[in-house]
Amino acid sequence: MSVDTAKNPEKKPGQHTGELVRLEQVTKRFGDHTVLDRLDFGVEAGKHVTLIGPSGSGKTTILRLLMTLAKPDEGTITVDGQRLFPAPEKQIREVRKKIGMVFQQFNLFPNMTVLRNITEAPVTVLGLSKDEAEARARELLDLVGLADKCDARPTQLSGGQQQRVAIARALAMRPQVLLLDEVTSALDPELVAGVLDVLRDIARTTDITMLCVTHEMNFARDISDQVLMFDSGRVIESGPPEKIFSDPEQERTREFLGAVL
Ligand code: ADP
Repeated sequence: MSVDTAKNPEKKPGQHTGELVRLEQVTKRFGDHTVLDRLDFGVEAGKHVTLIGPSGSGKTTILRLLMTLAKPDEGTITVDGQRLFPAPEKQIREVRKKIGMVFQQFNLFPNMTVLRNITEAPVTVLGLSKDEAEARARELLDLVGLADKCDARPTQLSGGQQQRVAIARALAMRPQVLLLDEVTSALDPELVAGVLDVLRDIARTTDITMLCVTHEMNFARDISDQVLMFDSGRVIESGPPEKIFSDPEQERTREFLGAVL
């Protein structure tokens, strides 16, 4: 099955076109449990695709494969026309730089200031000068509403603030694709809206491609060009959010949405 996002009539200036991510016949097993079953889908550059579906249906595994935190057993993964899998290690490292991820647990370095958390990888991995990396980090902290927290340590911040730093840290690597894995699931309810607002802003004002696993259905409805409904390692239905959330084709999708909405 091929899942391509609908053309956005309000394309932002400078936005890339064409498919940025493609999975073909991707299968992932853990022991004799097939978690992803010959999965095919593509994401066009600049689009926001949300993966929904019951717990255990394989959504996070897809993000982990794209981050090269796990390897498929079969199939191919291509990012920006270059193979991420299967590919030689050197190529995997190069392609991997095009991808950023924000996790459920923020995973900030606790012994570093907020600013250093954001500048560390651009300096060591991309070879930016300290000044360049700091200038970029300050812009990003401004974008996520934390310009005044440069010198704070992660432990001095709320969970929502830490997650906004993690978003800035991912963007500091200037990835073409941003993977978001249930980024508000570990937050106290009153901190969720602030993080989602930041992500809505990023979706609206940048041309970054987003692949997002979330249980926040209103957020998914707001930012998505395309929603993919997963069940047992397969996409059982896909379409624009207004179709999936208001008039789904599959009984399984209706059941799932009935339970979470
Ligand atoms: P979802 O994100 O849709 O909740 P996941 O991709 O996290 O689903 O998990 C899909 C299935 O794969 C689950 O049954 C989970 O238990 C299993 N799984 C994920 N990671 C591992 C692992 N490292 N070892 C064994 N099983 C795993």
